Amino acid sequence: MAVREEGVEPSRPYGHTPLKRTRLPLRHSRRNPSILLEEQWSRRLHTIATMRRNADVVIVGGGIIGASIAYHLTKKGVRDILVLERGRLGSGSTGKNAGGIRLQFSSETNVRLSQHSLPHIERFADEIGTDPHFHQVGYLFLITEDRDVDAFERSLAMWSRLGVPARKVSATEAKGLFKNARTDDVRFGTFCAKDGYADPSSMLNGYVARAREGGVTFMEDAAVMAIACTNGRVSGVRTKADEIGARTVVNAAGPWAGEVAKLASVELPIQPLRRHIFVTEAVPGLEEDFPLTIEFATGLYAHRESGGVLLGMADPTEKPAFDDSVNWDFMPTAVERALSRFPILERTSIKTGWAGLYEDTPDKHPILGKVDGIEGFVNAAGFSGHGVMHAPATGELIAELIVDGRTSLDISALALSRFRTGQLVREHNVI
Ligand SMILES: Cc1cc2nc3c(=O)[nH]c(=O)nc-3n(C[C@H](O)[C@H](O)[C@H](O)COP(=O)(O)OP(=O)(O)OC[C@H]3O[C@@H](n4cnc5c(N)ncnc54)[C@H](O)[C@@H]3O)c2cc1C
Repeated sequence: MAVREEGVEPSRPYGHTPLKRTRLPLRHSRRNPSILLEEQWSRRLHTIATMRRNADVVIVGGGIIGASIAYHLTKKGVRDILVLERGRLGSGSTGKNAGGIRLQFSSETNVRLSQHSLPHIERFADEIGTDPHFHQVGYLFLITEDRDVDAFERSLAMWSRLGVPARKVSATEAKGLFKNARTDDVRFGTFCAKDGYADPSSMLNGYVARAREGGVTFMEDAAVMAIACTNGRVSGVRTKADEIGARTVVNAAGPWAGEVAKLASVELPIQPLRRHIFVTEAVPGLEEDFPLTIEFATGLYAHRESGGVLLGMADPTEKPAFDDSVNWDFMPTAVERALSRFPILERTSIKTGWAGLYEDTPDKHPILGKVDGIEGFVNAAGFSGHGVMHAPATGELIAELIVDGRTSLDISALALSRFRTGQLVREHNVI
């Protein structure tokens, strides 16, 4: 596979014009009718601005999690919702990821979040009115190392108990599922036909459109700079342009959620961790459809993308940082692994690449729910690379928590307090 050296910025799939605020001069004259008109407009604008200064719920972060929560809140009848986004909608991890959707997790908690989300994704077009481009081609895990065998055997037993239609496949069967994957060193594979990959930007667009119809206001270029707390409860937020009173503030700031939580004097153990994606040109002779295939020992994964192949792999030397520039020095490592596992890629070249940030927690599970000691502050972050597939469940559960005070799926294991009590929920299958 030839390698093109220069970096190409990923396209920003969610192009939205930032909301612009019109400012009229506040001049007074009783004689000039055009100035009277200006005064009327000014009063109207003032009223709109005043309305914006209070909301029932403020959501910090305009990624897929914030948008899903906003949409699900409207379904439960909440109307006065403000989503504040520092940059542009989808400009965080939501615009940078691989779109993978799977049931095959090693923790029961993650499996249940996926089981809660999957039906929503399967009927997304009907429910939300936007095609999520869900390619339900399955996930194929290739297990090559002894050290991973027991963990996957345990997962297979758990999947069977929870009704996950994943099965163990031999190396030969794995080859039958993806003939261009090398399987001579594969101990066994696991395959779940319900898994696949979707287009996160389409999902985000859908949630935003439906939430707007439900009355939600999305503001771009509106970084939250302060969170006000009074007598142990949240009372509002401040951006550079506005002070907004709100009794419920949701932290859906993705990899930046730790920074946002600090504004409310809350410590969230969420770290930004850079991950790369490279996309190839067309690959002559490659089958049209194949499962999202993962070489588990290295975390290398591949799926079809824009006529070529999307390749992802974690750099094990990566340290937590907010840097999402592409490290082109890492590309040859990923390409070498890809050529070894998928030799047909010899026929193509790398077209583009980008990097984004995982929102990593110590146990690779999200932090969901209220925070002891600060009434009205709700976290929905720390998805550790799984936030797109868990966005439908998260939106629904956080909306239930805010409106009903309880959730239809028990998420108490995902409370922030687990890091204090040491009751972590481990996840083995992170790629
Ligand atoms: C390379 C890569 C591959 C991935 N692959 C997958 C995958 O296959 N499947 C999957 O499910 N997940 C995947 N993920 C993870 C997924 O992208 C995230 O879990 C998900 O996008 C999180 O959504 P979010 O809305 O919480 O965060 P984001 O999309 O990051 O949104 C948070 C938003 O908050 C905004 N913000 C931050 N601070 C402030 C502030 N002070 N005020 C206002 N706004 C603020 C940011 O600008 C940002 O837009 C991948 C991630 C990466 C990087």
